[in-house]
Amino acid sequence: MASGHPWLFSSDVVHRGAAQPGDVVRVADAGGRPLGVAHYSSTSQITLRLLSRRVEPVDRAFYVRRLERALAFRRQVVRESDSYRVVFGEADLLPGLVIDCYGGAHYVVQTLTQGMDKALPVILDALGEVCAPASVVARNDVAVREKESLPLETRVLWGEAPERVECRFNGLTWQVDLLGGQKTGIYLDQRENYVAAARWARGKALDCFTSTGGFSLHMAGRCEGVEAVDSSAGALATAAANASRNGIGNVHWREANAFDVLAGHHSAGRHFDTIVLDPPAFTKSRDAVEGAIRGYREINLRALKLLRAGGVLVSCSCSHHVSEAMLLEVIAEAALDAGKQLRVVERRSQAADHPILLTVPETLYLKCLVFQVAESY
Ligand code: SAH
Repeated sequence: MASGHPWLFSSDVVHRGAAQPGDVVRVADAGGRPLGVAHYSSTSQITLRLLSRRVEPVDRAFYVRRLERALAFRRQVVRESDSYRVVFGEADLLPGLVIDCYGGAHYVVQTLTQGMDKALPVILDALGEVCAPASVVARNDVAVREKESLPLETRVLWGEAPERVECRFNGLTWQVDLLGGQKTGIYLDQRENYVAAARWARGKALDCFTSTGGFSLHMAGRCEGVEAVDSSAGALATAAANASRNGIGNVHWREANAFDVLAGHHSAGRHFDTIVLDPPAFTKSRDAVEGAIRGYREINLRALKLLRAGGVLVSCSCSHHVSEAMLLEVIAEAALDAGKQLRVVERRSQAADHPILLTVPETLYLKCLVFQVAESY
């Protein structure tokens, strides 16, 4: 905690007093000096998550202040979008809490710790005051809640949540399923990377792991055609609806395993000018990093084999445990194997409404690297 990180692990906690799951507790060092107030977890390895370095009440007024500050930052950084992340946990000094806004009026909340879960009524109250939502949904169907012995569930907390919320960002319209879509509906963190990818995209494009079509629909206007691949039929149905809603007709949606599609194109001798790779996190833990690295090497190698000279590769990773340096190294190896020279043209990360707190490395998770295939020696 001296390093500025808000977590205290189980092995560091000497006296728990009468703390109950999810309580707000005062934290003191070995000499009894107060360190602030924190949420207590009875089951996670992360026993304490600091809420404030002052001993202050964590009440409605506290959440209102934090929400107002979080919102003020979004007003500074969110451009061209009625959908954005309002609260990004630790990065907004609200560890364990995520709040997303869709279509300017519909909110999705995730309470990922015992503390935030217990505080949900107060948080809802504060959210009502600061954002005046039309509806609020809880997307607490996330595996991390198991570490807190919390149930996995999805429910409407407030108002009438529409089956589909219509959102607008980057000049396009999107249908979002807040209760059943991936993450809290869609991948808001890629919003700015879609625009970057569209700037580079051209010719024949292949979008692997397209989900509801984010990269494809942004690139379509710049490309002859886009082949968009995902294994989820539900996500692809929404993607196709999004395409027609925006009058886009040159994307071919394909339900398939992206690894197989890449290999199939190679055997058939096909080539592309633009390829996007945005796979799911191959690892969510440090122990599985080696397997994840193999996964990234494999898809990047398969993609690189299909790219023409001058072609563009947009390669993403949302695994926090795979750093940008590791990803660059893996792709460098894959390029060597594929006999391609790569030029790094952009090194990007998550959208600005998912800010990175320098003292909390876990807040940096998304990498989006853009390469161009240079002429060989
Ligand atoms: N690019 C998307 C987000 C991708 S998330 C966007 O910007 O919205 C990862 C996606 O990969 C999910 O939609 C999931 O359904 C899909 N997926 C997972 N394994 C896959 C596989 N082996 N082949 C194709 N798609 C897969």
